[in-house]
Amino acid sequence: MKVLEEMAALIRERERFFLVSHINPDGDAIGSMLGLAAALESLGKEVWPYLDEEIPRSYAWLPGVEKIRYSLPPDSRWTAIVLDCGDLSRIGGAAEFVDSLQEVLVLDHHEVSGDLGHLRLVEPIFATGALVFYLLRELSVPLTREIAENLYTAIFSDTGGFRFQQTTAEAFSMAKELAEAGADPAKIAEMLTEHYPLSRFCLLKLVLERLRLLAEGKVAISVLKSEDYERCQATKSDPEDFATFLRSIDGVEVTALVKEVKPGEISVSLRSRGRVNVARFAARFGGGGHRCAAGFRLKDDPGRFYHILRQELEALFA
Ligand code: 5GP
Ligand code: MN
Repeated sequence: MKVLEEMAALIRERERFFLVSHINPDGDAIGSMLGLAAALESLGKEVWPYLDEEIPRSYAWLPGVEKIRYSLPPDSRWTAIVLDCGDLSRIGGAAEFVDSLQEVLVLDHHEVSGDLGHLRLVEPIFATGALVFYLLRELSVPLTREIAENLYTAIFSDTGGFRFQQTTAEAFSMAKELAEAGADPAKIAEMLTEHYPLSRFCLLKLVLERLRLLAEGKVAISVLKSEDYERCQATKSDPEDFATFLRSIDGVEVTALVKEVKPGEISVSLRSRGRVNVARFAARFGGGGHRCAAGFRLKDDPGRFYHILRQELEALFA
């Protein structure tokens, strides 16, 4: 890949890197960022891995989390590397800063991505962590345990624990190399799937109580309101992948979870079993993602929008 060589050449020449991903960061976003941060440091570079919200509890154990900065750099002499996102509107509080920089590199694997970046590596691969893996290979960076644990986490997260459609032989051979470099598969799987806070189950109970099946059982939809988060003492990341869980209902093709993240502001998670392209569906509402996992955000009342969404989803199967 020519762009990979160009990126590696540019990275060798530059000294200071501002790393950023998307809002509501998941394992791929954070693992890719921390894996790349550790690698750049091993090359003697200065890094500023940025998050504009507290790291979700499920990723707070990752090696190198103490490197994360929750504020922006005071000057603009940085090369930005945007991970798992190709759209300025998805990078939250750092958008203006990134927009002001001379050089912006993008590594993303979303089918419906944006057009951000001067140098873009956008490939439909199983995880952004895999693109970071290839970039590090191009840079001849030896895989340390810190890099390996973070990239393994990225790949584990976005393949749903090596279960989803994009889980290719390539994913396993990469996982093998990362395991050989010190990533512990059992530990990472346990940290990511067996330490959920009780507040997650409190939300799940509400999601299941409100679950509706539409289009003769092909669509599953549910909703969480902002007061539910208070009632359950839950954080924004607690319902991560509930929409994936609902997709496991036999016969369901598409799932939608409407989440009121702030009063009057909603984020919708969409999942598909493969027949329907939910990235394209999300794009109708200004969002994006992958064929089988996508989402969008908008300002609306969750109750009102829930009804619009029901009709739009039913129309997919009419
Ligand atoms: P989740 O439902 O887990 O938040 O997101 C599922 C997938 O859709 C992820 O790959 C995520 O990056 C993408 N996605 C979620 N919300 C949005 C959005 O508002 N805009 C875009 N472009 N992608 C989104
Ligand atoms: Mn991803």
